[in-house]
Amino acid sequence: MQVNEKTPFKSVYKNKEYYFCSESCKKRFDELDKTVIRVRRSLKDKEKISFGKLKREIIDPGICTLCGACVASCEVLSVAEGKPVLKGRCTACGVCYNQCPRTITTESSLIGNVRDVFTAKTMLPEVKGQDGGAVTSMLLYALEEGLIDSAVVTVKSEEEPWRPRPIVAQSKEDILRSAGSIYVHSMTMETLMSAIKKGSRSIGFVGPSCNIDAVSKMQNSPYGLLHMFMRANILKLGLFCMDTFDYEGLKKFLEEKGISLPAVREMKIRKGKFRVMTDVEYSFPLSDLDIYRNGSCTVCTDLTAEKSDISFGSVGSEEGYSTVLARSGLGLELLQDAADRGYIKIEPLERQGLEKVLHQAKAKKVQMYMIKRRIEKGKGI
Ligand SMILES: Cc1cc2nc3c(=O)[nH]c(=O)nc-3n(C[C@H](O)[C@H](O)[C@H](O)COP(=O)(O)OP(=O)(O)OC[C@H]3O[C@@H](n4cnc5c(N)ncnc54)[C@H](O)[C@@H]3O)c2cc1C
Ligand code: SF4
Ligand code: SF4
Ligand code: SF4
Repeated sequence: MQVNEKTPFKSVYKNKEYYFCSESCKKRFDELDKTVIRVRRSLKDKEKISFGKLKREIIDPGICTLCGACVASCEVLSVAEGKPVLKGRCTACGVCYNQCPRTITTESSLIGNVRDVFTAKTMLPEVKGQDGGAVTSMLLYALEEGLIDSAVVTVKSEEEPWRPRPIVAQSKEDILRSAGSIYVHSMTMETLMSAIKKGSRSIGFVGPSCNIDAVSKMQNSPYGLLHMFMRANILKLGLFCMDTFDYEGLKKFLEEKGISLPAVREMKIRKGKFRVMTDVEYSFPLSDLDIYRNGSCTVCTDLTAEKSDISFGSVGSEEGYSTVLARSGLGLELLQDAADRGYIKIEPLERQGLEKVLHQAKAKKVQMYMIKRRIEKGKGI
């Protein structure tokens, strides 16, 4: 509704005034989680959206359903040769783009439900994490406070360097050695099952969206393993994820560059670069690894592990920090308690960082649309 600026019911949030029709609406706003406002604002105030964007993202890649919503919304649009086309001057009002059922325009359709967004760093000197060490610190907090009795995490195989090996961690030592990212699929579900079978009743589970989805499906499916999952509470800690690679392919790629896997101390994917740290640091365009990318990742659309209690990633935060999305009430409370007890430092993630997350999430959502183009260009899927 329209509210006059002279209303006595006002609130200020981040130097911006908000107006309300009544005391009760103002009260609800004051109590509201302000993240939603941050996310929403970050999606607004953007560049003008013209028909060109709809053409580029939806019509040209061939995913227009010809529903006619864009044409019905604007008099300078019509259909020719089976496609919406511009017949006059576009004022870049963005209506057609926002009406199209194929575009992704809301924050929750990009990153799922989020209660609050942080940038975080471990406060424990012994934690050597991939980014801020937030995942490892949260697991240590949960274990030491008696909130979980085990954690399903992934470590590097001792026999084959950098091959992922999921384990049931029940000690600080095991959790500490699981820190770091391995860009290869880890088969975590069998390990989760074995933890439940061995009597774990409260389990921290870490994995990217495909792993988190497997847990959620097993918990909710009518064909699921009810008798297993009724026995244990599972805290789902999701990892942002754009891709993983075939283990043998990754090995071959590095060997061709003269790098042996046992010598690799760390791998990092950031800003389109694949960085490999041995005694020296190498950096390759990520696209060089395209041919070794797992096929499943090409059709995966969930960057931020939307079904988790808490999600963690690097995009959006400074180096040495993790971006953290608190999703469930439990997730948010645990993060705040871990911070209060000195395990991690959390600060609100600022707008710029959040925009980077939304941007990467969008790139992942629309990659399915690009498959046809990739095939046409002979790149396969
Ligand atoms: C395959 C993969 C792809 C990723 N891609 C992106 C990306 O595109 N953008 C982005 O912002 N962030 C991405 N991340 C997340 C990022 O690398 C960090 O994991 C995240 O920022 C948390 O950092 P941290 O220091 O808090 O984690 P840490 O404290 O170092 O903990 C890392 C946790 O990850 C688990 N883990 C490591 N490898 C695997 C695996 N293969 N499968 C399941 N669990 C694993 C470990 O068990 C450990 O618990 C990816 C992570 C992985 C594993
Ligand atoms: S709806 Fe707006 S953005 Fe779309 S073609 Fe018409 S004027 Fe351009
Ligand atoms: S609204 Fe979208 S899907 Fe519908 S006709 Fe226009 S471009 Fe095609
Ligand atoms: S991109 Fe998707 S399918 Fe591939 S490892 Fe990541 S979450 Fe799983």
